[in-house]
Amino acid sequence: MTTNQLTGTPAKVDAKQVLAGRVLLAAPADDPDGYAHLIATSPTPMSGLVVGGANWREHLRRLRRAHPDLLLTVDPPECGLYFATAADPFPTGIDPDELALMAPPTLKQRLAEQLHNGADVAVLGTGYIQAADAPALKAAVTEVLTLERNDVLVVLNLAYQWLTGRDLRQLQAGLDLIKGYPVAICLGDGDGDPMGRPGVLDGVRAIAASERWVMFHKTDLGGLDAMSHGANAASIGVIASKRRAAIPGAIMRAPRKGRGQNVLRPELLRYMRSFDMQDKLYQRLKAPGCPCPECLEAAIDRFDNTKEAKASCSRHNAYGILGLIDDADVAGGWATYWPAKVSAAVVEHQTLAGKVGIKFPAPRGVRAWLDRPTNTGTSTGTDVPPRSKQNNGRPRPTRS
Ligand SMILES: [Zn+2]
Repeated sequence: MTTNQLTGTPAKVDAKQVLAGRVLLAAPADDPDGYAHLIATSPTPMSGLVVGGANWREHLRRLRRAHPDLLLTVDPPECGLYFATAADPFPTGIDPDELALMAPPTLKQRLAEQLHNGADVAVLGTGYIQAADAPALKAAVTEVLTLERNDVLVVLNLAYQWLTGRDLRQLQAGLDLIKGYPVAICLGDGDGDPMGRPGVLDGVRAIAASERWVMFHKTDLGGLDAMSHGANAASIGVIASKRRAAIPGAIMRAPRKGRGQNVLRPELLRYMRSFDMQDKLYQRLKAPGCPCPECLEAAIDRFDNTKEAKASCSRHNAYGILGLIDDADVAGGWATYWPAKVSAAVVEHQTLAGKVGIKFPAPRGVRAWLDRPTNTGTSTGTDVPPRSKQNNGRPRPTRS
């Protein structure tokens, strides 16, 4: 991060330029230092860290001192605690009783607080915008237009229904009004993967392919598919709760401990539960070792339910995501890399099925990525065909 020499305050950065082409890791709040170190020592210059949790201020300050060059931004916890409303699209998260005694911080003060604590880009996140709540979306857009600054990423936390039908057209109209700002779309779904819902992938691809600056935030690997269709950036959750928008008041499903940890298999472009791998794939066949720096060739299905195994699995997942980012960078970008990688993942499923002698088709989500329309955007009729926006003429960060 650059600092203004006279005032000691962070210099204004162009958020669009800083984030362009990057795939950030949305990490769990319990070990930000570990993930910062992991990203800082990985070969890819195209990542960065989204810091979450109630203690994000302290985490940011410490991480900024330890890693002056690491791209840092915030996942403000209040976004997942409140619904956006027409009266308050960007809830502060401050207790109303406390607010009675003091003036609530302005949007500009909230953004300045992030930058002063060490974020490269300030995040202005809406509360959760429920399906069809057009007044809340409109209120958010109206407030964004008052900001008049370029160091802010606007995060729209949206119910997945916003990516289909009439809601999609309203969302696109809203995005057009704030097209001067980089916008991150974070989708929520109370019951599963929001990008797996009917029609959502088409909506995501139409928005990715448009001329607007947009990133898909806190996704599963679907953010990478969006990159291949022209999204300007993405962030991927290292753990399940960071792979979608949090829904206020939603009860987190208890982890299905009976099936072990959720392990990324980068060559298959999917997660698999460790105990499912033991039971279904590797009863007779020896499980392969993983070459990542966390596993050091230890068996891919070894993660049990201990605290240590859970943390180790999350680090393995982070290394897997960083490996994909680095491979895409070397291959010349997501538009080139992703279609070939998806095809290879489908073949990997067939090869593995042959080895273990069971039916093991690629999941529906992976097969959906195979299908690449030659003219994305036909589902809405309002967007231009895909083209690569990923470099935008910006200087690329150098590989170290
Ligand atoms: Zn590994």
